[in-house]
Amino acid sequence: MNTTTQDTIHTAHSADIGLAPLVSKLPRVGTTIFTVMSALATEKKAVNLGQGFPDFACDPALPDAVTKAMRDGLNQYPPMAGILPLREAIAKKIHTLYQCDYDAATEITVTAGGTQGVLTAVLCCVHPGDEVIVIEPAYDCYVPAIELAGGKPVFVQMEVGENGYSVPWKKVAAAITPKTRLLMINSPHNPTGSVLRKTDIRQLAAILRGTQILLLSDEVYEHMVYDDHRHESICRYPELAARAFVVSSFGKTYHVTGWKVGFVAAPAMLSAEFRRVHQFNVFTVNTPVQYGLASYMEDPTPYLDLAPFYQSKRDLFRAGLANTRFKLLPSNGTYFQCVDYRAISDLPEAEFCTWLTTEVGVAAIPISAFYQEPRESGIVRFCYAKKDQTLLAALERLSTL
Ligand code: GLN
Repeated sequence: MNTTTQDTIHTAHSADIGLAPLVSKLPRVGTTIFTVMSALATEKKAVNLGQGFPDFACDPALPDAVTKAMRDGLNQYPPMAGILPLREAIAKKIHTLYQCDYDAATEITVTAGGTQGVLTAVLCCVHPGDEVIVIEPAYDCYVPAIELAGGKPVFVQMEVGENGYSVPWKKVAAAITPKTRLLMINSPHNPTGSVLRKTDIRQLAAILRGTQILLLSDEVYEHMVYDDHRHESICRYPELAARAFVVSSFGKTYHVTGWKVGFVAAPAMLSAEFRRVHQFNVFTVNTPVQYGLASYMEDPTPYLDLAPFYQSKRDLFRAGLANTRFKLLPSNGTYFQCVDYRAISDLPEAEFCTWLTTEVGVAAIPISAFYQEPRESGIVRFCYAKKDQTLLAALERLSTL
């Protein structure tokens, strides 16, 4: 079939029009470590405990609900902020779990995943020259979002002790300047698996009290908190919720990371600015998935059962790792387990992960990928959102080290 009106097919770059190379907006950014490690894991046929995603199916009731919505003809643009039934279901969940009322009409926006929620929140409030405090190790989308907004990231490093990673709040307080516009926090924390406690929140509140500093709270792992801890959502604390964008994700909660749907809850004034950017950033998020999620959310059991479900995976994985030469750090939340490998190898973290994937057949993520400046702690992250048989296969390989 003739697919072109011209006689010859040309390539996109065949005409030399003297185009100057683009000046990159993110010159220090390469392909994300998650994509790189997943590609290597596939190439080497390694057990992929690198990129965080489940290797098991979601509840079939969820795709059934989405399919029903599609078949019912719910396939056109939804309202810009998301369909109202989903926003209402989100508001109800936050009310029940965290005793905080958000107005579904004006204070909740459905996003194309947590990452878009973070980018849009940062773009809507960070102006060129503004400073944003980032606590490292930090999820890899934070700094590019700040830089795209023209802001300046100011880093504070978590400390690692016997009880794992913790935030040194005094250093956070010391990092504040008149230019600080936003502070970004993340609990349960990727990659460390640490969770903020009430004492952390108390210190955070004291730091922000009386300032104009906004808060971005990444809570995409909100339903994965273990043992006797509870999720200290910022929504629980009126004085903090009043200045916060709270970001969450359905992908993590319902085992559908590829659907890329999440939400941002924020007071009306912040949500209004968020939506100004959101409407020209993604405009809307796909309709049938929103209807499917709204009906699936009527039953709270799936998200309430998530913590015991993942806690047993964590326990299985940790019990196996205890028989290896890796040193375990705590994993009080998320589906990530950090380990210290210094008894096994002197390699830098990224090289260790490449070696582990290639030679041992288990992919992991270097913690150094979550720092801006080179930093080697001899710690890597495994994801345990996997079938038990996958975890056991990985453990068998790791036990040879
Ligand atoms: N959030 C996932 C992780 O931490 C990765 C998502 C992505 O690949 N961007 O592994």
